[in-house]
Amino acid sequence: MSTRLVLTGSTAARGMALGRARLVQPSQISVDTRPLPADEVEAEVARLAAALAAAREDLNALRNKLHGALAREVSEFIDAHSMILNDPELVDGLYDLIRTARLRASAALKMQRDRLVAAFDALDDPYLRSRREDIDHVIGRVQGELTRDTTPAERQIAARVGSILISDLVAPAELAHFGEAGVLGLVTTGGSPLSHSAILARSMRLPMVVGVHDALKEISDDDLILIDGKRGEVIVHPTAQDLAAYRAWQRDLARSADELQRFRGARTATRDDVAIDLFANAELPADIAQARALGVSGVGLYRTEFLFLQRRDAPDEDEQFEAYRDLVLCMGGLPVTIRTLDLGADKADSTGIAMVDEDNPALGVRGVRLSLRKPALFTIQLRAILRASRYGPIRILVPMVTSSEEVVATRTMVDACARDLRTQGHEIADHYDFGAMIEVPAAAIALPALIRQLDFISIGTNDLTQYTLAADRGNDALGTLHDPLHPAVLKLLAHSISTARRAKKPVALCGEMAGDVRYTALLLALGLTEFSMHPSSLLEVRQEISHHDHKRLRAQSLALLRATTRAGIERVLERMRADGRLVNT
Ligand code: PEP
Ligand code: MG
Repeated sequence: MSTRLVLTGSTAARGMALGRARLVQPSQISVDTRPLPADEVEAEVARLAAALAAAREDLNALRNKLHGALAREVSEFIDAHSMILNDPELVDGLYDLIRTARLRASAALKMQRDRLVAAFDALDDPYLRSRREDIDHVIGRVQGELTRDTTPAERQIAARVGSILISDLVAPAELAHFGEAGVLGLVTTGGSPLSHSAILARSMRLPMVVGVHDALKEISDDDLILIDGKRGEVIVHPTAQDLAAYRAWQRDLARSADELQRFRGARTATRDDVAIDLFANAELPADIAQARALGVSGVGLYRTEFLFLQRRDAPDEDEQFEAYRDLVLCMGGLPVTIRTLDLGADKADSTGIAMVDEDNPALGVRGVRLSLRKPALFTIQLRAILRASRYGPIRILVPMVTSSEEVVATRTMVDACARDLRTQGHEIADHYDFGAMIEVPAAAIALPALIRQLDFISIGTNDLTQYTLAADRGNDALGTLHDPLHPAVLKLLAHSISTARRAKKPVALCGEMAGDVRYTALLLALGLTEFSMHPSSLLEVRQEISHHDHKRLRAQSLALLRATTRAGIERVLERMRADGRLVNT
């Protein structure tokens, strides 16, 4: 009989999964090293071209299939991989290796991979060095396409329903495919809970444990595996007792899914009946429809950069107007927050609007800085937004603000656009709200002055955390450094919320934190009453809010802010959560 074995790692996505192990070892793909006869060269070139084309098509199909937060997380990655796949040096080099060195396609791919990885390994910059992963994923994808014809059965088995993938790393695009193919969970030997794949696994509700170093050594194909995402454990050959725990978890899950349905369309309020507003971060029709079905107070964040992605030219005024108008109409009179273009830094751009070759793009010409440098482009966007205001209430939200000069300059442009539109006979609303994202520490610190020129603010904790802690939000190597529970981040959050409340201006939070129930009590304690999140988190957050007593939470905000370490903050949070649980038993 097989012996039970527990391997530990870090939880990247919670939940449990039971299935048969399917080992994926992209770095160990078998390579055909037999020399290529002269009369097979062109056929081999064609085989490689077909595999490259299929890999590109695969990425495009994936791009078109994803939406909402998922698309946002993956698009940067897909762009990077498409760029590698289209890189003439890589592609021509491959054809050369087939034609002149007479290598078969798989061997040529391996040689190019080794050459590129060696070049990456030689770099001093640890971030760039970590990007060698991208090369591996791209080459692995093409290798996969090459073998697709030869071993379709094998691929079918690998993706069959009921399997748990065991791999060294999983690329986000692969992950999206696995989800579709019915894979139940993922275990990786490397990776971090902050990686794009981990974020994606959480959105897809696919249990994932990362950093299980011995997984590929200790687990064999077809072993029965139980992932316990709560503990960050992988149980190989689970016992009857483990399986009973799994069944209990499944029962709990079914019960809580049923319970969640009670919160569809329900009013959002704390236990002591303080009303809270939940808004949606929504870009695509599916997100908007979902948000409306679940019940929201409006759209809290519409990231307009989505309109600018995957195309060569920027959309013109009419095209943008139609997109904003449709959104406003879909929300049937609820407020819609349209954020002006936030291109640059990690926001992929195919239109050529964003600056290229910046040494430090995250600290460069991004968001409102870029818009103010491109007044013609900015005017088109502002006019389009204002024209949509005729169809329902809109709030204009400006990203990456650091100074009151930027706020004044933008507001002046908005007002000038509104005057021009009226003069030209366009009907626009008498009133539109004008607000700023608080996502740079400077804006948070200077908020008492900034707020006078604003109608509302929205806190972007994804960037606020990155800029406060000087921790790149996209760099997996930084591990848990990108942590919204850092005392400095909490102080800026508390300061921003209380400054806006004192000024009697609405304050929302639209970073990932808003949709994560681990932070709900904390945000309520700090006085937040407007949360904006991807619709998929809405019901859970609504339920979590209903567990808590607002007055009791508010009374603990001082303790939160006094804590000087993450552990101290966690202790206060644990008390808050326990309180919430107690109230409900
Ligand atoms: C944020 O920074 O928290 C935010 C919501 O904006 P984005 O994620 O689009 O940068
Ligand atoms: Mg941001």
